Amino acid sequence: ENEPSVSITVVGASGDLAKKKIFPALFALYYEDCLPKHFTIYGYARSKMTDAELRTMMFVVYLDEVPMFIHGENCDEKMEQFLKRCFYHSGQYDSEENFAELDRKLKKHEGGRVSNRLFYLSIPPNIFIDAVKCASLSASSGNGWTRVIVEKPFGRDSESSAALTKALKNYLDEDQIFRIDHYLGKELVENLSVLRFSNLIFEPLWSRQYIRNVQLIFSEDFGTEGRGGYFDNYGIIRDIMQNHLLQILALFAMETPVSLDAEDIRNEKVKVLRSMRPLQLEDMVVGQYKSHTKGGVTYPAYTDDKTVPKDSLTPTFAAAALFIDNARWDGVPFLMKAGKALHSKRAEIRVQFRHVPGNLYNRNFGTDLDRATNELVIRVQPDEAIYLKINNKIPGLGMRLDRSNLNLHYAARYSKEIPDAYERLLLDAIEGERRLFIRSDELNAAWALFTPLLKELEEKKIIPEYYPYGSRGPVGAHYLAARYKVRWGDLNVEQ
Ligand code: NAP
Repeated sequence: ENEPSVSITVVGASGDLAKKKIFPALFALYYEDCLPKHFTIYGYARSKMTDAELRTMMFVVYLDEVPMFIHGENCDEKMEQFLKRCFYHSGQYDSEENFAELDRKLKKHEGGRVSNRLFYLSIPPNIFIDAVKCASLSASSGNGWTRVIVEKPFGRDSESSAALTKALKNYLDEDQIFRIDHYLGKELVENLSVLRFSNLIFEPLWSRQYIRNVQLIFSEDFGTEGRGGYFDNYGIIRDIMQNHLLQILALFAMETPVSLDAEDIRNEKVKVLRSMRPLQLEDMVVGQYKSHTKGGVTYPAYTDDKTVPKDSLTPTFAAAALFIDNARWDGVPFLMKAGKALHSKRAEIRVQFRHVPGNLYNRNFGTDLDRATNELVIRVQPDEAIYLKINNKIPGLGMRLDRSNLNLHYAARYSKEIPDAYERLLLDAIEGERRLFIRSDELNAAWALFTPLLKELEEKKIIPEYYPYGSRGPVGAHYLAARYKVRWGDLNVEQ
């Protein structure tokens, strides 16, 4: 009975992220018996809501909206029990008094046990600091830990990010801050290190000696759809590249860490980021989607979004070539591509290997030697898979070769559903596991890499290359890749 209690307060509980991701992830953790015995969940926001209304909101999402729900055995019953532990407190984000009221309520639930408190800040960035200040001064734990999960954006350049970190540190120590990058909570991103460090066949090939280029691709098949207000101030480079894709790159390229401890892994990631060559304007292509009519349907341009200024130059697409100037990766292009309103929706890592020297079968490939190399694809989403393209003899009497896949298709191999990234990250924060959260120095290094280029793009008012909604993006991305003798690996339809 001396077990500590954990109170999880979702600040901004009336918002989209809370409703669609955070509360469902908390329920999934409860369903899997992963939450501590004595837990209480509080929603906090300005909207007036009763406990019952919060529960109804959560129940409606449970019923209709989120496919992530297991709907397994006893699911409804578990939901009912779970909702009994969820409460709501209405308050302002800058009111110490309102947070003190929350504190009194939390204390009641904690019933004299050691109190551990997790605050999830699911609010717009302009009120982060107010909320951190009030939560820390009026509602932090007296005898246990207090941790705060913060959502991106962590600033919009080096200066604003440093200012945010400095302000956070007025109220919190580094080890209380959990900067979430939900890509790090994705199953296949976590698996990157397993693949590399626990299989003999990959790590020896993981360098400039055998790898020709690495591609990190993110695409969405929809635009901002009336919600471009936030996006327009950031653009795709800040929204996807500087954080999600760069984090994957760092994990992909890091040296073997001393151990799996958070600090050891983050130390190696920082080294990668700090070894990267400053980005040059000529190594970046920016694009913006324009209206397109297909099959009688007209898809809107980015600037048709009512929340976006008509003359906005904000990129909705970007492609970049990055280089890591260290012994392992010298000269290997890391190509990133991220875009909205493209023809497909996916996130993947593609590793293209070098040619087989003196390949006996070269004449089988004609002039298209590029096609003859091996490629490892890690499809992060959707439909998770890892496959390795190999050359294979087409069965029969002649000697004809074919490209085939050694294929690990998650849906076919693993019957269990893959947990949502938010589920894993919330559990880690409760358990104090920091491996998948971003440390300040990592964040600084990531901003240092992108800030000069972002400033240049904005100061020179670089016009994005316009691409039709639903297309493969601007042709410029292909010229950029070609300059480094790379062909984007996603041109062909995969199985
Ligand atoms: P949101 O719906 O815009 O905001 C969450 C809540 O904050 C709102 O329900 C509102 O609650 C309060 N709020 C909104 N604007 C405010 C303002 N100007 N001043 C004071 N309070 C305000 O945001 P969200 O989509 O849930 O996302 C939450 C955070 O996660 C944001 O920082 C966002 O950048 C980040 N994020 C979101 C996503 C996503 O998928 N949505 C993904 C990654 C990161 P009350 O009016 O009831 O107080």
